[in-house]
This record gives sequence, C-alpha cells and structure tokens, in this order.
Amino acid sequence: MPKGGGIRRITTVDECKPLKILHLKQSHCKFNSEFALIQNGKDMQPAILLYNMLVPSEDPIMVLAHELGHALHYSLTKDINVLPEKFDELMQISGKSGLDILERKHEAFADLTAWAILSDDELKEHLPLEITEDFAAMSTEYVSFLTSNWQMR
Ligand SMILES: [Zn+2]
Repeated sequence: MPKGGGIRRITTVDECKPLKILHLKQSHCKFNSEFALIQNGKDMQPAILLYNMLVPSEDPIMVLAHELGHALHYSLTKDINVLPEKFDELMQISGKSGLDILERKHEAFADLTAWAILSDDELKEHLPLEITEDFAAMSTEYVSFLTSNWQMR
C-alpha cells in the first residue's frame, strides 16, 4: 500500500462513526495492521486495516483484538492524545507505571483491551502466555467499567 494513500492518522473527530474493518491482501512494510481514519466520501471514518502478517507466526486474532483496543480508545476519547479515564491509575496499581511516553500508553491501552477481549472463553487460546489470569481479569473489569454506560442501538 502506498504511503499516505488516502489514510490519515488519528486526530480528533466530533462525530461517532461506525467502525470499518478492512482485510487487505497486501503486506505493509512496517505494520501488521493499523487503526486509522479513512476517507469515506466527504467524511472521515474510523477503520482497522489488517494487512498480511509481516511475520506469519503472529496471531491475527491478537492483532485484530489490539486494533479493536485502539478503536475503543478512539470511541471513548475522540482524541488519541487523551487517555481513557483511570488508565494511569490502573497502570500504577498493576505495577506498569513506567510508561512515560504517550505513544507507549496508547499501545498499552490497546494491549489491555485485547487481553480483555481474548479473556472470553472462546478466545482464550489467543491470549499471550505471559498474561496471568489476574491481569486478564483486571483488564476485563477495566474495559467493562469503561463501556458500562454503552447502549445497544
Ligand atoms: Zn497499536
């Protein structure tokens, strides 16, 4: 995929738009996947772009769950520079407070969301081995807290 080919990095958007998930046959030179805002007519739409895995042994389910974490972050704050509420507190409690760079916090939030998603009984086989039951449960509780006021439409 050509660099910048109609894809813009996340900034801020006022409206909530449906999430689009695109499974692309191409590989990306750096990434397995991306969360981005893509042009849809005259609007920008949040999208997950899943490329061919750069490393075939990587688990595409984990990759998708991680990108869903970025999508959750976006849907909660509408600004990638704003972390979801209580995230810093949670990182301190969990002993992972050494995340000083905002981008690493974004990635940590996406991973945490992925572990919550993958804690579901049907997906547990995709949970990374280093994630303990306690940390997976804490991730699930936190994501449930963040989405507790969501309503189905
Ligand atoms: Zn990421």
